Amino acid sequence: MWTERFAPSPTGPLHLGHAYSALLAWDRAQANGGELLLRIEDIDQSRARPAWEAQIYADLAWLGLRWPKPVLRQSERQDIYRKALAGLWHRGLLYPCTCTRRDIAEAANAPQEGAPLLGPDGLIYPGTCRTKPVGNMPDTALRLNLRAATHGATFHFDETGFNAGRIEFTAEEAIETIGDIVLARRDMGTSYHLSVVLDDAFQGVTHVTRGQDLFEATKIHVILQKLLGLPTPVYHHHKLIRDEAGKRLAKRDDARAIAKYRAEGATPADIRKMVGL
Ligand code: GLU
Ligand code: ZN
Repeated sequence: MWTERFAPSPTGPLHLGHAYSALLAWDRAQANGGELLLRIEDIDQSRARPAWEAQIYADLAWLGLRWPKPVLRQSERQDIYRKALAGLWHRGLLYPCTCTRRDIAEAANAPQEGAPLLGPDGLIYPGTCRTKPVGNMPDTALRLNLRAATHGATFHFDETGFNAGRIEFTAEEAIETIGDIVLARRDMGTSYHLSVVLDDAFQGVTHVTRGQDLFEATKIHVILQKLLGLPTPVYHHHKLIRDEAGKRLAKRDDARAIAKYRAEGATPADIRKMVGL
């Protein structure tokens, strides 16, 4: 079955950009006789709040969405994430990293002049801590040794939105443009990338509808899927909803919160019109 998901983090109000993503995923599922799952991405327990989660349910229901219950909450799946990490650790593909942001900026700047290269997670990691892992997996931040993990392979996924077609990339391209990403943060025990990949597979997600800003991150997810023997869904990266100044909407941009439009008397049809659906 065509299975879509909407996966918000309960760290702030849903705004127009979220509404667009959720409605588009819902419409695509409906048009294909499928369903839309809801997943609460609350691995960052320092920022997740029950009140925001409640607001997410209220906003989505108001928009006309329905979803199977109970919903999957990432905070309940730590064991699964740790098990997957332990597997990668024992395959020699992870290493502990104790660098601060500043260490990384300094090391990344050292060899050449000019702006250091940015990847999906910020500065591309210069590899300072890269070692062969020995012993038990530590509780530190863990990075994926991308060269060992990709092993000269080529990767691909099918894209139906932005840049539609078969997207292909090589191990070398990934090493250059992504680098050794963090798969477990010290404070979370996991990462967005690892959790999303494991959960999409666990929930049987066949189609991922998400913002264009995640296009490069999708490449990380495709690499992880191959590494973990998980299927790769079809991706649909959509346009971003911008404000009048052309700036991307941020979570903290409460002015565009769905709840605010609701309070001002807007209807779900108005919201659809505002995002171009
Ligand atoms: N929790 C992520 C977000 O809200 C999910 C994005 C995704 O994987 O599609 O940005
Ligand atoms: Zn490091």
